[in-house]
Order: sequence, then C-alpha cells, then structure tokens
Amino acid sequence: MASMVLFNEVEESYIMIKPDGVGEIISRFENNGFKLKGLKLFHCPKQLAEEHYKDLSSKPFFPKLITYITLGPVVCMAWEGVGVVASAHKLIGATNPLQGEPGIIRGDLAVQTGRNAVYGSDNPENGKREIELTEWTPVQTPWLVE
Ligand code: GDP
Ligand code: MG
Repeated sequence: MASMVLFNEVEESYIMIKPDGVGEIISRFENNGFKLKGLKLFHCPKQLAEEHYKDLSSKPFFPKLITYITLGPVVCMAWEGVGVVASAHKLIGATNPLQGEPGIIRGDLAVQTGRNAVYGSDNPENGKREIELTEWTPVQTPWLVE
C-alpha cells in the first residue's frame, strides 16, 4: 500500500517557521536527533503561499492565512530522520496553540491559531513535494563544492 505510513522509514519533512516564529524551533528538532539538510530565509510570494495552502482555499480563514504567511520572511527547512513526519507533528502540536501541553512547540511559543509559529508536512509524500517546490539547495553545498 503506497499510502501506508511506515514509522521506521527515513523520511524528509518540510518544516517552515512562520513569520511570527522564533529560532528556538530549530533546536527542538535538533535536540530530537533529526538532521537539518537545508535551510533558507524566504519571503514567500502570495501566489506560492496560495499554492502551498491550496487544500484550504475554500475555508473562511484562507485570506487571513495568506496574509499571515506573507507578512514577513519564513524559515524553510528540510529535516531528515526516521519517522520525522510523525515526530514533527508531535513536536509541533495541535493547530490551536492553547491546546498544547508544556514542551510542545505551539503550546510553548505561540498563542493563537492564526499565529501558530510553525508548519510541518502532513505526510512523507508531501514532505518531498514541498521541499522540491521551494527549489531546495542544501545550505552546505557552497561550503563543500568550489
Ligand atoms: P495545521 O496542519 O495544524 O497547521 O492546521 P491546518 O492545516 O488545519 O491549517 C493550516 C493553518 O491555517 C494553521 O496552521 C493556521 O495557521 C491556519 N488556520 C487554521 N484554522 C484557522 C482559523 O480558524 N483561523 C485562522 N485565522 N487561521 C487558521
Ligand atoms: Mg495542515
């Protein structure tokens, strides 16, 4: 079954620190043993934000979501590890930060659903696609290749 999630697979997740997020989000993933494969600061154009969230385009909050994501630069990251997609979901927590337990990123570092600090891929297929969509170049490439 192609869609079955295998928790012992090495996967990649696209993690995005939203415009209101903070650098501590990076340490949360690092401290959990995942590998940072790429990172860039990026001011997302409206059109790409709409493409990224196209599944939510019929929701009443969609215009507010696009305004939020394009308010300022986001930090685009590719994180690799065994079961990183499901682990990222646990680290990030519920959509509404007020439902977050202590130690969960959104619970600790955000207050409102409309300013919830971070995005994580829904499944490994989306992780791959979203990393490609942002034309990923590993951050270390210019340091390794002349
Ligand atoms: P996620 O997977 O937990 O990020 O949640 P969803 O995929 O359901 O929604 C995507 C993003 O849309 C959320 O992370 C929020 O930033 C935003 N969002 C979802 N629901 C609401 C809402 O009711 N109001 C507002 N303002 N934003 C929302
Ligand atoms: Mg979602």
